[in-house]
Amino acid sequence: MPSNLAVPSKLASKAGRPFALDPLFRSVRTLSGVGDKTVPLLDRLLGGTRIIDLLWHRPVDFIDRSYEPKLAQAREDRMGTLNLEVVEHKPNKRPGLPYRIIAQDDTSFIDLVFFNARGNYLETQYPINGNVRVFGKIERRLGKWQMIHPEKLGAGENTKTFEPIYPMTAGVTHKMMTKFVGGALPLIPELPEWLDGPLKAREHWPDFAPALRALHNPQGEVDLMAQTIFRRRLAYDELLSNQLTIALVRERERGPRGRVFPVSTRLRPVFLKNLPFELTQAQKTALTEIDADMASDTRMMRLLQGDVGSGKTVVAALAMLNAIEAGAQAVIMAPTEILAQQHARTLMPWFDALRIPSAILTGRHKGRERDDILAGIANGGCRAIIGTHALFQDDIEFHDLGMAVIDEQHRFGVHQRLQLTKKGAATDMLVMTATPIPRTLELTSYGELDVSRLNEKPPGRKPVDTRLIPLPKLEEMIDSLRTQIKNGTQIYWVCPLVEESELLDLAAATDRHKDLQSRFGDTVGLIHGRMKPKEKDEVMTAFADGKLRVLVATTVIEVGVNVPNATIMVIEHAERYGLAQLHQLRGRVGRGTAQSFCFLLYHPDCTKTARERLKIMRESEDGFLIAEKDLELRGPGDILGTQQSGVPEFRLADLSAHGDLIAMARDEARLIINKDPKLSGPRGDALRHLLYLFERDRAIQLLYSG
Ligand code: ADP
Ligand code: MG
Repeated sequence: MPSNLAVPSKLASKAGRPFALDPLFRSVRTLSGVGDKTVPLLDRLLGGTRIIDLLWHRPVDFIDRSYEPKLAQAREDRMGTLNLEVVEHKPNKRPGLPYRIIAQDDTSFIDLVFFNARGNYLETQYPINGNVRVFGKIERRLGKWQMIHPEKLGAGENTKTFEPIYPMTAGVTHKMMTKFVGGALPLIPELPEWLDGPLKAREHWPDFAPALRALHNPQGEVDLMAQTIFRRRLAYDELLSNQLTIALVRERERGPRGRVFPVSTRLRPVFLKNLPFELTQAQKTALTEIDADMASDTRMMRLLQGDVGSGKTVVAALAMLNAIEAGAQAVIMAPTEILAQQHARTLMPWFDALRIPSAILTGRHKGRERDDILAGIANGGCRAIIGTHALFQDDIEFHDLGMAVIDEQHRFGVHQRLQLTKKGAATDMLVMTATPIPRTLELTSYGELDVSRLNEKPPGRKPVDTRLIPLPKLEEMIDSLRTQIKNGTQIYWVCPLVEESELLDLAAATDRHKDLQSRFGDTVGLIHGRMKPKEKDEVMTAFADGKLRVLVATTVIEVGVNVPNATIMVIEHAERYGLAQLHQLRGRVGRGTAQSFCFLLYHPDCTKTARERLKIMRESEDGFLIAEKDLELRGPGDILGTQQSGVPEFRLADLSAHGDLIAMARDEARLIINKDPKLSGPRGDALRHLLYLFERDRAIQLLYSG
């Protein structure tokens, strides 16, 4: 970020952070008590080393010193504060025995108990006849009151009735955290209000600074909850900054006038006639929405969400025809070699039948072959292009790229999406994902896209019969598969996910492959991520052709592969997978008309959450419902894979608790950007503070780039 020093205006530089925010972005090192040793520890704990990182760190609990009984009325085993007079010291006679101090209030006596005590110290802290205020667990032992290692409350930092407790890490104690946050709180500046006045009044929200202070000052259980007014205000601030960014991106990406591609009238009817099935209602609706986008002069930016097997490919092909018929090129991109190949197998015959020249380009194409394909793409001879991210490479020039379909979006980053955009200024974009995305995530991660949903499967599909099988029953299950294989059934067998180790994954898969081969012979194949693309294709093709009956795999088969004759999915150690992943894997079967099965093998002593996940899998096949549950059980990053997808990580907003705020923030952000796209008015200035506060670099960049 540019330095604040080169600032022309009073409030901020053109590209710089408003001065008012400076105190929040200083290093924690400037706080008293934070030294060289603490900084890296805080970095790990907070994910940053600035004051703001400390302030975004929420307490998870608190010490409550408000219970202040007389001894006679005290409840046993409760934490409480006592006001006492010191009566007598009874030093320990031998090491290992406790040092006792007898004290009293006007109702009873109590022993204050110290192990490994230093007598001198205690004598000065607890002088005979002196009054002391102590906090600790009020216990009863052998008919007497006692408190072990009381905390002596004096004047100063320890006297707070409620003291927040923060998530901690080795080397950073509760005392230290309390001190650091205590040092940071007074640094919170008064900032211009960026919220809409009526909204703020209606929700009874406090100003930003008091809200942030309240976050660090819980006065009861209720204050730790997500729905307090101060937490909601802060969550809304964060979501608004997220939605403003999205609105700015949306505005900018749609900016270049789109091309007008009328609905295909020549190619489409022939295509539909050749198709051996009718489109589902959901497919028709999605197509109508896409047609409207393509025919309009704003650029299409649409997300097509549809569960595995819902038939996105046909919809994509039909959309591509609009661009091709108008004389432009259309491209469809898959995240892996296998998927690109599969698209080619499906699409190229369709295009051939319409005499549309098409080509596939992946990382595998080298030398002469590659040059020829590139030439076709550059001179426009080739009209439909299928490929992988190899299509992003700089030396690839399109003659006239009119439309791009990006399949399985969550594997590509937002960044890559933009990269492809550069290949054609006003390219219509259709992004497809097989990961059903809950509405809340849809808004926070794909908000700049319009959304079509395929919420219906092609007819004739039987639900997959999902069964949970404890691992000790593995042998029995394998025996039952023998007859199935004899009868021609094909089986996917997914091997355990071993944490963070592709090599171990591989070892497990190789072992299982050997094991199954020894039982079922050469019809058992193996596919994994370490194989060369060509080898993978060969295995995949052998399986698709039915030459292989059982395909042992690591999760490379996860996305998109289509073999309708495979009707059994076995997942070993299913408890180690997330819901979304299990759902994806199961989606590989149930594609034909025969009854399919999914066997989820699980370790009997897995966690409760894991068991809950498996139960949901058994009970539902609704991808959208499963996605909502997954969000509840795991949180957003896990669903989309934070790194790949660029899902924003929220510090204060909790997507499962603040869902209502997201829609509000979206609406308000769009309104704001419509009215004041450069954020140049007085409220715009306040909103810039907000964007800087939550470090929405992308938005800031857009604001300053012309
Ligand atoms: P996905 O949405 O997972 O990409 P596909 O596009 O691969 O799904 O479609 C899955 C299968 O369903 C394919 O074999 C496809 O030909 C078939 N299919 C698609 N639409 C229909 C339909 N309307 N009726 C019958 N089968 C369909
Ligand atoms: Mg697909």
